[in-house]
Amino acid sequence: MRNDCDVLIAGTGVAGLYAALNFEPKTRVLVLSKRDVGISNSMLAQGGVAAVVDKTNDDYRLHIADTLIAGGYKNDLRSLEILVNEGPEDVLRLIKEMGVEFDRDETRNISMTLEGGHSRRRILHHKDSTGREITEKLLAAAKSRPNIKIIEYAQLASLTRSGGGFWAGVLVDGVHRYISCSYCILCTGGIGRAYAYTTNSAAATGDGITLAYEMGARIKNISLIQFHPTAFAAAKDRERFLISEAVRGEGALLLNCRGERFMQNYDKRGELAPRDVVSRSIMLEAARTGSDKFYLDITARGADFIRNRFPTIYRRCLEEGVDITREYIPVFPCQHYLMGGIDVNIYGDTTVDRLYAAGECSHTGVHGVNRLASNSLLEALVFARRCTYDISRRLRHEESGVDGPPPAPPLGKNPLPKGYRTTIRGIMQKAWFVIPDYDAAREGLVRASEILEDLKNGDYILTPDYIEAKSLATICTLILKEVLEKKDKGEEYY
Ligand SMILES: Cc1cc2nc3c(=O)[nH]c(=O)nc-3n(C[C@H](O)[C@H](O)[C@H](O)COP(=O)(O)OP(=O)(O)OC[C@H]3O[C@@H](n4cnc5c(N)ncnc54)[C@H](O)[C@@H]3O)c2cc1C
Repeated sequence: MRNDCDVLIAGTGVAGLYAALNFEPKTRVLVLSKRDVGISNSMLAQGGVAAVVDKTNDDYRLHIADTLIAGGYKNDLRSLEILVNEGPEDVLRLIKEMGVEFDRDETRNISMTLEGGHSRRRILHHKDSTGREITEKLLAAAKSRPNIKIIEYAQLASLTRSGGGFWAGVLVDGVHRYISCSYCILCTGGIGRAYAYTTNSAAATGDGITLAYEMGARIKNISLIQFHPTAFAAAKDRERFLISEAVRGEGALLLNCRGERFMQNYDKRGELAPRDVVSRSIMLEAARTGSDKFYLDITARGADFIRNRFPTIYRRCLEEGVDITREYIPVFPCQHYLMGGIDVNIYGDTTVDRLYAAGECSHTGVHGVNRLASNSLLEALVFARRCTYDISRRLRHEESGVDGPPPAPPLGKNPLPKGYRTTIRGIMQKAWFVIPDYDAAREGLVRASEILEDLKNGDYILTPDYIEAKSLATICTLILKEVLEKKDKGEEYY
């Protein structure tokens, strides 16, 4: 048996990079990034990472309780306890071993912020670009390790089991080749690009979930999608800029079209209610007032505080013509995060042998029906490390590697028809956005299934666009099937 690498990791977000860094120096790790390594949801994370590192003012039990409340008590308690108990150590490793810098107060203590649904200030942050700070430091560390190789513009297209490993079909700069590995960790992130409007990066097309599904892995709670209440309400852009929860955590008020606060009419936690509650309240308030104009007002905090605490949001809004030190920020909900995905156990192991998943593409069950703010970077760290622990143990004890030749190369002849991805995005936006529309879901499922059939059987040339179109169509059908199944069982999303 042989292999080109011991472990193939798809994804250079926080999950993929942290997984790679946790392997022993003798393990040969290949990490793929389907685009530039700068394009990922990890790079976009603003608010921070939640962890009980200040044990005098906080407690593990409170973090667990807050996560359960946000998650509607549908969380997997065992995974959640692991997340909250082990997470602080991973966050401290970021500081000590990777050189990640979190904001500190004048006495050099880490300054914690508050976000919706948290009962304590427990969010470590690097101004309002925490994800970029963490990802760039992880990337630098990974590049310095001789056992880790990172390839950009390398898109995982297929996985075929062989002996004790996989043949991975990869498009490298558009050219197809097979790479053999003993284990694979999917860290391919979310599905935001299945929607017309999302905060997610262009890489979030659900490729890993589609691959796992095609291999027979169990996919769970794929319709549990988080709609962030306060994305910048830009006129056209598909990728919507997020106005972080931390802005409300620092005192911003949410206002309707008349400039009135309204959240207290829907939930006693007001602006700091969990995201699903705020998003739904906005939709109900929009129906009540007949207007979809909503605003955040942070001006009371003063210009110096705002520019220093939220430099990225300040700059980005200014580019859109809004000076947030003096003016209201126009906001509206949009797709933000996927709670479900490839079902994994507490070691990130899927139901397919030697296939692991971590980060946003995975379903560990920690979030329940609604993720608590800043818990996803923590989840990516904790469960990525646990994948490496399990794979390292198995590498020591099990014979591994492919046996036999790679599968036949793909030979499609036809170019991808235009418009399939736009159609899918339209279907999702209409069928399942904050409040499900079951008639639209039924119609959408029929159309998305037709598109998927054509993509599978149309003898299309394997290109990055084709992989993404097939993935979006697969994700759309999986989500809408689950939406309709839940309706038949009488299960509500709230
Ligand atoms: C705007 C925004 C703000 C956020 N703020 C926060 C926050 O403050 N705190 C928090 O905890 N969470 C936050 N989140 C959520 C969090 O950032 C993500 O859930 C997390 O970073 C996901 O990490 P990941 O490693 O799983 O995926 P990603 O970081 O999205 O990385 C996915 C990687 O997979 C690669 N990839 C995809 N498909 C393929 C393929 N076929 N072949 C090869 N490579 C592939 C991509 O190129 C990319 O490198 C935010 C998300 C967004 C969008």
